[in-house]
Amino acid sequence: MPICENCHNKWSWKQTIKKTFPLDPRMTCPYCGETQYQIQKSKTKGGFLIGTVFFLLLLIQNFFDISVAGSLSLLPVMLIIIFLLYPFLVELNSREEGIFN
Ligand SMILES: [Zn+2]
Repeated sequence: MPICENCHNKWSWKQTIKKTFPLDPRMTCPYCGETQYQIQKSKTKGGFLIGTVFFLLLLIQNFFDISVAGSLSLLPVMLIIIFLLYPFLVELNSREEGIFN
């Protein structure tokens, strides 16, 4: 779970979900009100999580010979898994990272 770089309080899963899913890179710490940014490394991990979950969906589809419609019905399950796991990957920084740092 992410820890605020300013006040070192750990955010709860629920707080992280609420801050992450408007997809605004700026997240306000619920404890100190300081603006925090998700670090690039953690965004990359989030991308890997999404990639892995969709890869698993393809594997399941092939392995069990599920129709396209059947695998589409698995999509909400995959999205829930991503939703549940994503806050564990979020790491914070007090400054927005540029391309060169
Ligand atoms: Zn804070």
